[in-house]
Amino acid sequence: MPELPEVETVRRQLKKLVLNKPIIGVTSNYEKIFNGNIKELEKVLTNNEIIDVERYGKYLVFILKDNHVLISHLRMEGKYFVKNEGDEINKHEHIIFHFNNNQNLRYHDTRKFGRMDLRTKDNYLKVDPLHKLGSEPEFMKEGELYNLLNKKNVFIKVALLDQTIIAGLGNIYVDEVLFLSKIHPNRRSNEISLEEANLITKNAKLVLEKATKLGGTTIKSFSVGEVDGLFQNELLIHTKVGESCPVCGEEIVKIKVGGRGTYVCNNCQK
Ligand SMILES: [Zn+2]
Repeated sequence: MPELPEVETVRRQLKKLVLNKPIIGVTSNYEKIFNGNIKELEKVLTNNEIIDVERYGKYLVFILKDNHVLISHLRMEGKYFVKNEGDEINKHEHIIFHFNNNQNLRYHDTRKFGRMDLRTKDNYLKVDPLHKLGSEPEFMKEGELYNLLNKKNVFIKVALLDQTIIAGLGNIYVDEVLFLSKIHPNRRSNEISLEEANLITKNAKLVLEKATKLGGTTIKSFSVGEVDGLFQNELLIHTKVGESCPVCGEEIVKIKVGGRGTYVCNNCQK
């Protein structure tokens, strides 16, 4: 699943490829990707242009030339490709934006879990799905994470995956952040101390920054076109089952926490 660094990488690529190109039509091959009436999406986008691409947590927001925005969540397998009008249409390309220069922006999703929402510029940050989004680690205030964690009694891993608590982390980066913070993923969120919560915030910021710089992690490709991330070479714990912990040498194990495959060093993480 693309997390903040991967979505940010997609955003930067899209900005190079799709801005200020008049859209002359939209084709939808799987209407459920769009939350709403697909005819409305087609109507709003036709004769419109994408003038900017923003990102909030793991959401992409296409800013349109008129008063609309299109919010896109890639979920498990969503990807965008820029192709030429005549290129064969892949069966997983569900929404196709046709530009007037013979190019297309194609939304590709093998699992069909991704979703798009149309909103207006005046209030899109104040309504579903963006209004409940927590702060990204970079923008968290002192004590903010601690206060939120203390209101819940769930596994710390589950809490950090909750986008209303902290935005941008998914399964890969939560494992990395908890390893760096020496915190066991099975701890209860309301038993995390202020110092530990601050450490989590700091490490989350560091890991996301470094991964974004490297174009994200390519375990399953999230690409726009052929862009692959390089952070998979920097992973310390995620996917490393059976290998030695880089800190203490103990064997890294894989457990389930809240139903998610989780990599942990039982010696380092308490
Ligand atoms: Zn260790």
